[in-house]
Amino acid sequence: MKKFISIALAIILALSVMPMAYALDLDFDFDVHMHSVSNSCSTEEGDQVIFLPLTKEILGEYERLGGGNFYLAEDIVLDYQLEIFNDANICLNGHTITSTREYNSGHAYSVIDPQGGTFSICDCKGNGEIISKNVGITARADVCNMYNIKITARSNGIYVSDGCTFNMYGGKIYSESIGVDASDENNTINLYSGIIGADYQAVYGSANNFGTEICKDLCHKNGFMGLIWKIVCFIYKLMGKNPECACGAVHY
Ligand SMILES: [Zn+2]
Ligand SMILES: [Zn+2]
Ligand SMILES: [Zn+2]
Repeated sequence: MKKFISIALAIILALSVMPMAYALDLDFDFDVHMHSVSNSCSTEEGDQVIFLPLTKEILGEYERLGGGNFYLAEDIVLDYQLEIFNDANICLNGHTITSTREYNSGHAYSVIDPQGGTFSICDCKGNGEIISKNVGITARADVCNMYNIKITARSNGIYVSDGCTFNMYGGKIYSESIGVDASDENNTINLYSGIIGADYQAVYGSANNFGTEICKDLCHKNGFMGLIWKIVCFIYKLMGKNPECACGAVHY
């Protein structure tokens, strides 16, 4: 009797697993997003990371993540800001992430606000962008690594918070105010490559610059030089040209 029950159970199990396996087989029909973060998004060299898709719907109304590895599966417009509480890697995957929050009664909103151990952001497609009407990234994690992404912000491109080590390994930061704000205490800023442009100050506070270019373009100048620049832009416009600054600033 026991044997019969176990055989019957085995048959029932097999029958119940079969359609499940079928369904799983169909469910696995998606692209695996996998590449390194630290090694220029190489699919062969460096530590390979498997990224999960991130959408506005997945983020939900609170726009918070515990941590993990995510790639943007679509352009995301945030109502608030994306807070991340643990270790995380984000690949922009050629998409933009924008926050519609403007500066509001003393509270600076950023697009991304990482607060965990290590946060890294990269882009394997080359045109991924963070667009902010306020701060781009408030770097509050212990370590924040920026690779080849582009940030354009009205306020600070990156605000490096107390106790954070911020490493810039490439990409572009353009701010109408300050590119990298290093004015908080006990932080470490290492700028290895990439370019920073700002209309007020590219780097505010002390930073170790090992090779990041500071954009000296006329478009970041005020006063007489700024006026000259506006005339140059007007001529460009008449010629039908639409140049972008090396730092990513839109020229008009
Ligand atoms: Zn990617
Ligand atoms: Zn320029
Ligand atoms: Zn520039």
